[in-house]
Amino acid sequence: MVCGKREFELLNKINFIRTCGTEEEKQAAQILAEEARAIGTEPVIESFDVDRWDIKKVSLVACGKEWEVTGYGMSGSTPEEGITAPFAYIQDATDVDLLNTKGKIVMVNGRVGDELYKKLVKAGVAAFITFEGNIVDKREETDLDTRNLRDWAIKEGKIPGVNMRTMDAHELVKAKPETVTLTLIQDEGLATSQNVIAEIKGSDPEAGTIVFGAHYDSVPFSHGVYDNGAGSVIIMELMRYFKENQPKRSMKFCWYGSEERGLLGSKAYVATHKEELKDVVLMVNVDVAGPVLGKDIALCTSDDSLRVAVDYLSKEVGFAITSKQDIYSSDSIPFADNGVPGINFCRFGAPGGANIHNRHDIIDSLDWPNLEETTKFILTFSERLANSVVFPVPREIPQNIVEKVDKYLKKPAKK
Ligand SMILES: [Zn+2]
Repeated sequence: MVCGKREFELLNKINFIRTCGTEEEKQAAQILAEEARAIGTEPVIESFDVDRWDIKKVSLVACGKEWEVTGYGMSGSTPEEGITAPFAYIQDATDVDLLNTKGKIVMVNGRVGDELYKKLVKAGVAAFITFEGNIVDKREETDLDTRNLRDWAIKEGKIPGVNMRTMDAHELVKAKPETVTLTLIQDEGLATSQNVIAEIKGSDPEAGTIVFGAHYDSVPFSHGVYDNGAGSVIIMELMRYFKENQPKRSMKFCWYGSEERGLLGSKAYVATHKEELKDVVLMVNVDVAGPVLGKDIALCTSDDSLRVAVDYLSKEVGFAITSKQDIYSSDSIPFADNGVPGINFCRFGAPGGANIHNRHDIIDSLDWPNLEETTKFILTFSERLANSVVFPVPREIPQNIVEKVDKYLKKPAKK
């Protein structure tokens, strides 16, 4: 039977920072593979290439002092001596903000989304500065994030970028520097990330396959227990159950690497398993779980009938969970993009109850009874579907979901 304490034990084993393409990520994959082997399956580790960079030098000098910054990985390098150029604070980069910014070093509000990045390229800026955090942050209690340019930005052209603290951005803008000097020297290349895959053969080979997925990587500075060590241990517990209780339909259990870098593990999986996908009837993804203060949610990237079915099951067994038909920023996306319906189970932290993507994603915000309760419900749901006489979820993605997935993947709009 499902055991939350056992899940918590495994969660503690991967309770360390494990970012895309690092030795620590590989170590976590091995821990998961070992556990899968102990359960009696034969896990396979599938590797794939990811971008890697090594920041050799990064600095921002303005108003006679050096400011704390991190360099954007994959954003290229400046000349050795850096770029000295006029400074412009362009806020959200409206047409007015962007007037006469050619060749300048510009600061934008917060993040650089795809639309904004395109504007910077078109405007011909020399470099960009982003900021994150809060003006009231305490330096020693927060980390300055390390960011990188994603593929969608790189294909527009590289612009060297740095990230700084909001409190410093505030000071810098107030000081109105005429020029700033920005230096970024980096070495760019490839590293290896990996997925862990295990299989349970069903009693009816003709009945299709259900894929269970959870990403096991974390972002820098984060132990990633809530996001998503918790999902990783939940699907391990499900696999343990189904190993003992053979389902009618076959099952694949996938622990994805590099989700935090843009769903790279699940994208690699659907690319290398294209043929097998024809046989996949549903993808069950678990991403974030375990907080003491929180609520359970199911997001169905499928025909709306699945949302209704989860709602009925919730009432039937007395487990509080809200179900919605929507996409979710996680590993079910590449499946939906390939016509495979999916469902995402999450236990979201209540406001202030759990943190993601920073040093405060810690095991103390979670407890084992919550993991166990969420796991039990996903098990009930999965067992019924896995053994159903006729598979009830239509193998199609409705148009409203297709549109959201295309937008998420930044595909050009269809004419
Ligand atoms: Zn996640």
